[in-house]
Amino acid sequence: MARPVCTQTHMTPTTTFAALKLAEPIQRALADKKYTTPSPIQARAIPHLLEGRDLMGCAQTGTGKTAAFALPILQRLADRPKTRVPHKPRVLVLTPTRELAAQIGESFETYGKNLRLRHTVIFGGVGQTPQTRALRNGVDIVVATPGRLLDLARQGYIDFDAVEVFVLDEADRMLDMGFAPDVKRVIAKLPPKRQSLLFSATMPRPIMEIADRLLRDPVKVEVAPVASPAERIAQHVCHVDRRDKTRLLAHTINEHRDGLVLVFSRTKHGANKLVKQLGQTGTRAEAIHGNKSQSARERALTQFREGRVRVLVATDIAARGIDVKGISLVINYDIPNEPESYVHRIGRTARAGADGKAIAFCDPEERPWLRDIERLIRIDVPIIPDHPFAIARPEPDRDRSRRFEAAGSHSQSNRSRRVRRGRR
Ligand code: ADP
Ligand code: MG
Repeated sequence: MARPVCTQTHMTPTTTFAALKLAEPIQRALADKKYTTPSPIQARAIPHLLEGRDLMGCAQTGTGKTAAFALPILQRLADRPKTRVPHKPRVLVLTPTRELAAQIGESFETYGKNLRLRHTVIFGGVGQTPQTRALRNGVDIVVATPGRLLDLARQGYIDFDAVEVFVLDEADRMLDMGFAPDVKRVIAKLPPKRQSLLFSATMPRPIMEIADRLLRDPVKVEVAPVASPAERIAQHVCHVDRRDKTRLLAHTINEHRDGLVLVFSRTKHGANKLVKQLGQTGTRAEAIHGNKSQSARERALTQFREGRVRVLVATDIAARGIDVKGISLVINYDIPNEPESYVHRIGRTARAGADGKAIAFCDPEERPWLRDIERLIRIDVPIIPDHPFAIARPEPDRDRSRRFEAAGSHSQSNRSRRVRRGRR
């Protein structure tokens, strides 16, 4: 089902961090990090956020949303120092996954390294004691996933009375993951006087409803629509029989000598299996998915980031927000049935100005999903015709008519295909 996506409405302003009037300790941290120019969402959002306005930010991943909210938050806390009160943070950032929470925590650490502020990261799947200890000692900023946050709130470890700034990050993904009730519960606990920010790649109706509840007279900032993935990503598709996909994977990885390779698998089980099969062909790979413990996920990510393992196999949810600079190739081993996942997946490459490649493996059953993706991104993904396991390219007309017959649903399209076969 197509969702409303954000459209680009303004030209990109060119400016500098200095022109954004950020405090000197923050500027210094940015210079150390070698950031020279704010990204479009940063340039547009930061001035309004420094004025205390609420914000609705419509932007896909990789656009620099974290600094867009973290920098003005740090500035606000630095400008109005307060004694830390146990269990009462001044800033609350809600994000869907533990990986994202950890990355946002690191960003606060990096950008705020010359300030005397404290933050902590709260998520499930690990023991709660270090988290409750941090809360008791007092922190300025809490970055959290919804489940554990509410759990700790119920136990009395966190109190939202002192929250001055609230950020809802990746709101659409949060809803996709079923967190809507939790998000509403958190919003209901926030004090009325606060600054609120909502970021989302898409703005379907349920997000608009949450936005209405959360935001007061928000500034709306929109950048690079999710429907047009970064132009720097060279996208291709290999048409292949399902049974040849593993061998095609090993072949593709061998052909691709430079840089890290991120492989997407639809299921956790599939991810584990691929790691094993790649191992049998002499390629070391690691898997990252929701069934792995937090420490196993972190270990895999670190090994990958440092290039000790060149191939990481991930499921969508685990990969959300993976921000590893050296990923030069994203392989869609399975075609996602939600076209927007494709955009998110390939967005893991070509981060921060680098070039990247994306290759999708499409078996005949998956062609309707590929068509949905092509419709969303408004391009026909170029076909690699001459790989070792190539099968005849699809006949576009028959494929298209089948899709319209099937009214867009994959299971229905399977059925209509069976019917047609029966007639033949
Ligand atoms: P998003 O939340 O939109 O997915 P992030 O905030 O994670 O994006 O930023 C994506 C990447 O871009 C990160 O590696 C970050 O360090 C980098 N980045 C962000 N802002 C800048 C900037 N102004 N200059 C250079 N790199 C930046
Ligand atoms: Mg982000």
